[in-house]
Amino acid sequence: MMRQYELVERVQRYKPDVNEALLNKAYVYAMQKHGHQKRASGDPYFSHPLEVAAILTEMHMDEATIAVALLHDTIEDTTATRAEIDELFGPEMGKLVEGLTKLKKLDLVSKKAEQAENLRKLLLAISEDVRVLLVKLADRLHNMRTLDHMPEAKRLRIAEETMDIYAPLAGRMGMQGMREELEEIAFRYINPEAYRAVTARLAEIFERNKDVLSEIEKALSGLFEKHAIKAGVKSRQKKPWSVFRKMEAKALSFEQLSDIFGFRVVVDTVEDCYRALGAIHTTWSMVPGRFKDYISTPKQNDYRSIHTTIVGPSRQRVELQIRTREMNKIAEYGVAAHSIYKDTGGKTNGAAHAISKETNAYAWLRRTIEQLAEGDNPEDFLENTKLELFQDQVFCFTPKGMLIALPRGATPIDFAYAVHTDVGDTCVGAKVNGRIMPLMTELKNGDEVEIIRSKAQVPPAAWESVVVTGKARAAIRRATKNAIRKQYSGLGARILERAFERAGKTFTKESLKPVLHRLARKDIEDVLASVGRGELASTDVMKAVFPDYKDERVTPAAPKQREEGWSKIRNAAGMLFQIPGRAARKDKDQPRDGAVPIRGVRGDLPVRFAPEGAVPGDRIVGIVQPGTGITIYPIQSPALQAFDDQPERWIDVRWDIDERTKERFPARVSVTAINAPGSLADIAQVVASNDANIHTLSMVRTAPDFTEMLIDLEVWDLKHLNRLLSQLKDNSSVSDARRVNG
Ligand code: MN
Repeated sequence: MMRQYELVERVQRYKPDVNEALLNKAYVYAMQKHGHQKRASGDPYFSHPLEVAAILTEMHMDEATIAVALLHDTIEDTTATRAEIDELFGPEMGKLVEGLTKLKKLDLVSKKAEQAENLRKLLLAISEDVRVLLVKLADRLHNMRTLDHMPEAKRLRIAEETMDIYAPLAGRMGMQGMREELEEIAFRYINPEAYRAVTARLAEIFERNKDVLSEIEKALSGLFEKHAIKAGVKSRQKKPWSVFRKMEAKALSFEQLSDIFGFRVVVDTVEDCYRALGAIHTTWSMVPGRFKDYISTPKQNDYRSIHTTIVGPSRQRVELQIRTREMNKIAEYGVAAHSIYKDTGGKTNGAAHAISKETNAYAWLRRTIEQLAEGDNPEDFLENTKLELFQDQVFCFTPKGMLIALPRGATPIDFAYAVHTDVGDTCVGAKVNGRIMPLMTELKNGDEVEIIRSKAQVPPAAWESVVVTGKARAAIRRATKNAIRKQYSGLGARILERAFERAGKTFTKESLKPVLHRLARKDIEDVLASVGRGELASTDVMKAVFPDYKDERVTPAAPKQREEGWSKIRNAAGMLFQIPGRAARKDKDQPRDGAVPIRGVRGDLPVRFAPEGAVPGDRIVGIVQPGTGITIYPIQSPALQAFDDQPERWIDVRWDIDERTKERFPARVSVTAINAPGSLADIAQVVASNDANIHTLSMVRTAPDFTEMLIDLEVWDLKHLNRLLSQLKDNSSVSDARRVNG
């Protein structure tokens, strides 16, 4: 175990004016408080906070952070209290220790929602004082290093949590050294076999290439000497986890990975970086497409470096990273390095320890926190954040030249939402580098993106699966939820209007206000949406508004009557319906008043179609499905019989289609095809040449001579469908074609 004076000496090495008294006081206090407590390994408990402090000395942290590390488990595990720490070390340190205590209680909860809450609190705590993150990560790192002593069941969970949250978070904050070690240990526990295989293979390759590597190193050093560039050259080896992830993601073999070996060139100044690059590129040929200049455009986590791959002295591909000493420090320690630079020494000053506002890490943290303040579902938040943590980025520009950093794979929709939620919500198209491009286009570095907007737009729900940023996904989900709710309340308002009308009253939304309590709804919109969803009957609303209202609901006509003609019924929503008897089901021209207009699934009502489909031109009725909306059936559909005894679910509907409705409608047809080579192709050809789509096709029955199949088509209307059916029948490969339930 490290002695007290050793710890002080370590800090003194990089910070000569260290506040020794503070370190000594924290050391003694924590040691006394933990007393004879033991860790799972059998070591004295105090060895743990001490190791955490030691990790932080490697990152050259100031004495206040080191002291917090020594104290980080005292409130949780000993008799120490916040008040006592405040008194001995000041309230600023007390607050930090308490913050870490709260986070500890949140570790290793298995429920997703709680995990999300954990991450949320962690991010909020970091945004106030980055030292919480540094101590937390050092704490996690030491726990990972000693994971062997944990019960087996717990090990895997800790390793997974580390891989999911702490390692990416360290990476996002620019702390690559921390990230790599966390990943390496977590990988070993999560997938021991893969870890062993990859590690053994890497060692083997390294052994085999030892001579080549030292040859390259010499060649590089010689080159820099010749050009009088002061540079340190160090070979570096890819870590097992990143090799494994790359192999998995790109389905590559070991041999195909070109960048297992690399060299890092560290120079004094930015100018030297480019001089070194020039010297390298004029001596060896570069591999096209592998050059990246993260000095002129730093990564989101503030990483700066030049990357290039060359065909080296022994015809081998060599990856090179060129950077200054300071860039190297930031690449290794990230925000920790920033907080060192910001610390002016001497006194601890809260502001000095917040992440510097100019850093990209800070910008990311702020955006993420904004998003969690907006989002209402913590699980979504966890998903979104995890997604973002893992991704690399592209840099794009607005027409005015503003830089927008996005994760790799981002689309113009992500871009629009990154600019502003309003821009995303009203986005209908995009110009990429001056050309109109589909909204699914994957953006590339340097793209200039102009968003075309329309006030009438509601973001389609399908966008959710297209976008990659959490912000866009959360906003689309929110907009979709609102749009659906609006649809339901619109339908509810229509239903109530008509119920009031029948009772000789005029419906106003205001009339619902006094009865909200009676209806157990929180606001007027809620009443309307409930009626629209079929959860609340309009008769119940009527009874609430007019206490002497008589329910004139007509019971369904006797089955016999319904054999013929139309019978009138009133449904639970109070709407009067004409239900067609069997004879009348053929009568497609029955005129109706006040039917609800149907514009298709993209209209403003929550509508879906019966499995067998319904197309404009069909006489249709709707069946209310509580919670999902209206299902539209052609009136002759036998499936409607299932609803004969539930008149309250019927709703009168009519098509409301015009040339602006650019939508095809579903129809199921049954086709009997003669078994001959190419007959399926014939059928597909007829469908395609008639401007219809095949949605699904299934074989129902196959016999030696013919095959019966069901085809779900998408057609414009009934005329279109009938034309298609007759052409199918005329085809020599087809013996019969007819509509199912149509
Ligand atoms: Mn701890």
